[in-house]
Amino acid sequence: MRDEDRVAAARRSLLELLSEDGHLLPGSVIDRMMRCGKPNCRCTGDEGALHGPYHQWGYSRGGSRHTRRLSDAQLERYGPEIERGRRLSELLAALEDAELTWVERAEGWGA
Ligand SMILES: [Zn+2]
Repeated sequence: MRDEDRVAAARRSLLELLSEDGHLLPGSVIDRMMRCGKPNCRCTGDEGALHGPYHQWGYSRGGSRHTRRLSDAQLERYGPEIERGRRLSELLAALEDAELTWVERAEGWGA
């Protein structure tokens, strides 16, 4: 594929995603087992039965890292939007890569 075509295709994919209804949330969700910190809880000690799993959403904002615990209902509500946010990042990275390939070749830079 020509560099210009690759840029155009990446731009189209991005526009397609942005033209869909619905939110796009950054970050990712992991399921974690936790200790609560109460001294006599079943979760204390190496053999302790940890609490969870909890859904933990992590994202960066303005250079700081944030985490939020999501209930099952919140995960159901926001999970698809976080997934779409992940696609946004992928498509943006693909567009940047295509643009850099284009300019590097155009200018004779690059490896
Ligand atoms: Zn506990």
